[in-house]
Amino acid sequence: MTINLLDFDAADLTAFFAEHGEKPFRAKQVLRWMHRFGQSDFDAMTDIAKTLREKLRILASVTPPTIVSDKLSDDGTRKFLFDVGGGNAVETVFIPEDDRGTLCVSTQAGCALDCSFCSTGKQGFNRNLSVGEIIGQLWQANRALGADPAGDRIISNVVLMGMGEPLANFENTVKALRLMLDDNAYGLSRRRVTVSTSGLVPVMDRLADECAVALAVSLHAPNDKLRDELVPINRKYPLHELMAACNRYLQKAPRDFVTFEYVMLAGVNDSDEQARELLALTRNVSCKFNLIPFNPFPGSPYLRSASPRIKRFAQILMDAGVVTTTRKTRGDDIDAACGQLAGQVLDKTRRSERTPRRVIDVHEVRNR
Ligand code: SAH
Ligand code: SF4
Repeated sequence: MTINLLDFDAADLTAFFAEHGEKPFRAKQVLRWMHRFGQSDFDAMTDIAKTLREKLRILASVTPPTIVSDKLSDDGTRKFLFDVGGGNAVETVFIPEDDRGTLCVSTQAGCALDCSFCSTGKQGFNRNLSVGEIIGQLWQANRALGADPAGDRIISNVVLMGMGEPLANFENTVKALRLMLDDNAYGLSRRRVTVSTSGLVPVMDRLADECAVALAVSLHAPNDKLRDELVPINRKYPLHELMAACNRYLQKAPRDFVTFEYVMLAGVNDSDEQARELLALTRNVSCKFNLIPFNPFPGSPYLRSASPRIKRFAQILMDAGVVTTTRKTRGDDIDAACGQLAGQVLDKTRRSERTPRRVIDVHEVRNR
């Protein structure tokens, strides 16, 4: 088995080259070839000595996950399904907008956290994605979108909001983030890379220390009683701890606000009173709200809040001076909207016996 160089961030690659008696600038060159130019063939890396190229061919490879399907929506949203081996598949969605192109990336096959409204959670946990599988989604999408290394960036923003909990796969997620930020790789600014978490408090602190990027927190409820039900990890890290963690994060973050995601579930978390409770809860945190109309999936116990209800809820937040956006559904003609993606993932924990169809969710984010 050869070593997959997509599993290495710059530091790993430098160490790998040092082990083989090569100078650090060689690592930089190879990094650029792989990530900036999307090159997987060592022979095409023309400024690298032939002997080194031969060595690399024997020892290593550049192996991204294989694209098994690639669908384009009428609105330009494009959905890729990747085979990540062992019967697992994950999805990645590209959302083009006038002023940016956002890639929504998965970090795990399945998820162990079992939020009650989330189809990925209902699928159970299969496994963590490797660094190569996480960054490989960007590598492949860049290529498929015909990115020109000398031209404008097609993918200007990345959000880790696909399948899985990024902070439950911390080491691999951070290495992939470092590659996204590395000037020799994708060169994205920290402000344009967003990690979304359901609130793994201690790991949020680690992220702030090791690789502070923009942060989105899946809140979904204004009090512990309801959040315990919707987002079970809340029983371990309740809201007062989560709010404090957001403020600690903000001290090191590239942006001066946290984005709170809030899925709109009819009759569950969408009343005027709950909007006011939410304002009280988040009073001391610099934040924006992103309301996500719930996307039902087969077997899901919830309904999407009606549009006037969502508008009214948003208005209460905005009247209090909190920037609030409502996510629009995109790509639903190709099942690429939140909660609609269907990765063919083998279910190891049998949660799907409760929810027959396997669906994962991705979505667009509003922040720039
Ligand atoms: N695990 C991370 C990131 C992936 S989930 C997290 O929970 O933040 C990305 C977002 O999609 C989360 O805000 C999640 O709450 C939301 N989501 C999950 N299921 C959904 C559904 N059926 N409809 C709309 N949004 C959903
Ligand atoms: Fe996991 Fe996020 Fe889904 Fe919760 S919402 S089950 S944390 S992917």
